Amino acid sequence: MRDTNFLIENNAKSIWHPMAHPAEMRANPPKIIMKGEGVHVTDVNGRTLLDAVGGLWNVNLGYSCDPIKKAIADQLDALPYYSGFRGTSTGPSIELAYELTEWFKPEGMARAFFTSGGSDSVESALRLARQYWKIKGQSDRTKFLALKKGYHGTHFGGASVNGNANFRRNYEPLLPGVFHAPAPWTYRNPFNETDPARLAQLCAAAMEDEIAFQGADTIAAFIMEPVLGAGGVIVPPDGFMKLAREICDRHGILMISDEVVTGFGRTGAWSGARLSGVKPDMMTLAKAITSGYFPLGATLINEKIAEAFEGDQTTFGSIGHGYTYSGHPVGCAAGIAALAETKRLKLDENAVARGKELALALEQLKVRHAIVGDVRYKGLMAGIELVSDRDSKKAADKKTMAAVADGACEAGVMLRVSGNNLILSPPLILTTADVAKIAEGIDAGL
Ligand code: PLP
Repeated sequence: MRDTNFLIENNAKSIWHPMAHPAEMRANPPKIIMKGEGVHVTDVNGRTLLDAVGGLWNVNLGYSCDPIKKAIADQLDALPYYSGFRGTSTGPSIELAYELTEWFKPEGMARAFFTSGGSDSVESALRLARQYWKIKGQSDRTKFLALKKGYHGTHFGGASVNGNANFRRNYEPLLPGVFHAPAPWTYRNPFNETDPARLAQLCAAAMEDEIAFQGADTIAAFIMEPVLGAGGVIVPPDGFMKLAREICDRHGILMISDEVVTGFGRTGAWSGARLSGVKPDMMTLAKAITSGYFPLGATLINEKIAEAFEGDQTTFGSIGHGYTYSGHPVGCAAGIAALAETKRLKLDENAVARGKELALALEQLKVRHAIVGDVRYKGLMAGIELVSDRDSKKAADKKTMAAVADGACEAGVMLRVSGNNLILSPPLILTTADVAKIAEGIDAGL
């Protein structure tokens, strides 16, 4: 690689960064991250930061997981690539599919379809949902229902079910036939309802009202994140996801649990659906499936859908969908090692224990700083919503958000800003001392 002067000089010149304005990146060049160790990353200036973002919600095992590195190196030696399209298969993809369906058996998952990341996994789920209804002879069921504030990636299907205008406006028109119900968000909702149980009922009623308006027999699937991540870590009231499942059942609508962030222990359970006591029809996975060491995703499918495809007597059952890198052997080898380490280290239990410590610290920050409007958390995912005024809940401006993140960075903690939220999704190997350091960093920033 070229020297650091070259990197600094060319930073944001030839590269466009996702989710950023290119001119802003030029004016205020992004940090260049050079190294990672444990829960820390080091930038090009030699400054080491505790990574409270965990890469991008994905580096659950931190940056020094030797078993994953070895699995990748060994697989590169043995077979760096072979296709998973009809006619060929590879050892790691067979093994990882087996592991995933075993792991998520309690959620009812029976088959795995591999992808290259979260957006692919969502797109695959949406497409398979439509195909399922064609197989079942109900080809009117083409529409999708989702939640406002939800995030489901950037492909056209995923962007269409996204519930945030920031990810939609510049790319409209998106898919027709996609509708959104209110997010079960106690801090801000159209009903001005702060009681979680009542809010869950109101949001469920609004969802059912939209289904009635559209015609239940036109809706293919409902998609939701068990905890809405990029929308600001919105934790639905207990019982909401179950209510949504019941509504889907009542109207024959498939339920897709988007577990791209919540899968593999982030919320303190192995999946958000399990945490909510729900069995979805499909689950979308990516991110922590390899702890970020290799791009990989998967769409998991339950027995009901699998049987429909496998027992199909028409031409509708053939999967005319997939990616060159579906089941990439190196990615799958990384996944097998990441999942084994995730289980061995009981990262779900650590997310619960450290999550409790983090929650306490965040509640204290809310008491200490009037700019903190709301703190939300589940396991080791958390959002701190900043406001310029607590009564009106007016969102803090961009400059304030950047100043807080910069302040935390000065104090040695890397945070992520999403709208007027600070997002925390640290590696799940976090220690009690790391939690304290994160809290101190945010405190300094605030
Ligand atoms: N779904 C959810 C819930 C996500 O949070 C994300 C990304 O953050 C995606 C889908 C898209 O994943 P990717 O960025 O890997 O395409």
